[in-house]
Amino acid sequence: MSTYDNDNIFAKILRGEIPSFKVYENDDTYCFMDIMPRSDGHCLVIPKTPCRNMLDATPAQLAACMATVNKVANACMTAFGADGITLQQFNEAAGGQEVFHLHFHILPRHDGQRMRPAGTMGDMDAIKGHAEAIAKAMG
Ligand code: 5GP
Repeated sequence: MSTYDNDNIFAKILRGEIPSFKVYENDDTYCFMDIMPRSDGHCLVIPKTPCRNMLDATPAQLAACMATVNKVANACMTAFGADGITLQQFNEAAGGQEVFHLHFHILPRHDGQRMRPAGTMGDMDAIKGHAEAIAKAMG
């Protein structure tokens, strides 16, 4: 497995070098919107400290991410009147990973609705509104 690359896109987002639509943050994790959302409200939870994925993450990094996933996912249920949540997490290219900083996808789902195909840029105004709706539901 390769080593962590400090110039991956999510490291740049954490350093504020690339903009993102923030949903939530605490000392250990950051949650922001995916710019190619596969469902309305599709967001990502990442640790603030470096690791490529689940395979090299520490128990503390994983625990911190899961606590934030739990919080944000429940807020998504409220914000979008969702019927469920899909949680996705990919490890290395063969596992479907494209950005090599650990991240968990939170995808609000509705009965009978398929996820949109990957790789289509979303509408930035809509994504901004979704970030605000999730943040508001977190209180
Ligand atoms: P994965 O590595 O789990 O396959 O997916 C990486 C995710 O990052 C994709 O869902 C993609 O849409 C998202 N993504 C790629 N580049 C950016 C970016 O610059 N900003 C944000 N917010 N998301 C991105």
